[in-house]
Amino acid sequence: MSWRAGSVSSVMCWADRTTLWRAIRLRAVFAESNIFHMVVEVPRWTNAKMEIATKDPLNPIKQDVKKGNLRYVANVFPHKGYIWNYGAIPQTWEDPGHKDEDTDCCGDNDPIDVCEIGTKVCSRGEVIKVKVLGVLAMIDEGETDWKVIAINVEDPEAKDLNNIGDIQRLKPGYLEATVDWFRRYKVPDGKPENHFAFNGKFKDKEFAIETIKSTHGFWKALISQKTNSGGLNCKNTCVSAGDSPFCCSTDEAKAVIEGTTTCGTEDPIPCSVDKWFYYEKE
Ligand SMILES: [Mg+2]
Repeated sequence: MSWRAGSVSSVMCWADRTTLWRAIRLRAVFAESNIFHMVVEVPRWTNAKMEIATKDPLNPIKQDVKKGNLRYVANVFPHKGYIWNYGAIPQTWEDPGHKDEDTDCCGDNDPIDVCEIGTKVCSRGEVIKVKVLGVLAMIDEGETDWKVIAINVEDPEAKDLNNIGDIQRLKPGYLEATVDWFRRYKVPDGKPENHFAFNGKFKDKEFAIETIKSTHGFWKALISQKTNSGGLNCKNTCVSAGDSPFCCSTDEAKAVIEGTTTCGTEDPIPCSVDKWFYYEKE
């Protein structure tokens, strides 16, 4: 399946025709508490800003559109596109009604984000198992936006990476580059630099797992209608009707999918996406 950026009319893509935010379980391996599922939205070194569309029925992956144009992240020197496989942990939600005591900011209304640092360039829509290693607390325009750092459990180096310090040791420069990427990636779009709680220091595996658990709790409240969904589309096929009033039948889900635009031929990526932007560091 080719799910690179496409024309506006063909941006809606379905991963195995399933519901990404809801249908994939949070934990990949129940016996091991640090392994979670990750939905890959953006493969490493690509620029198209693809994300789980939380306001669309069954939450497909779509390319963000800004002022009628498909959105691509700019390359801030020396980066090219996203420098990890980037995606989200299903069944999590950063509640915009909850103020985090560490960041002093509310959630960004999205599933929790993951940067996967393994060697393999994943495919868009792929669901992989990742080992969680740490987390960065980004503040994006006044909202808490956690960035979990993790590695694909199938990566040959996964066994050697068990906590945040192992990344520093085995992949020197990667954590610093990650902070630099998130700090400046919106500057070419005329936005200010992003900020971080904890002075831009990564928190360890234990902290990351607690953060994931709390966002899973917020998701559970959302899906069972204990929290107002505020425009998010919670229709799902996997949470039993007793737990979620948004649960729908397979036939209803099929009708939603059949009612969407079919995938067309993708447009070529514009040359302007290759531009490098250079800035003095503040
Ligand atoms: Mg986010």
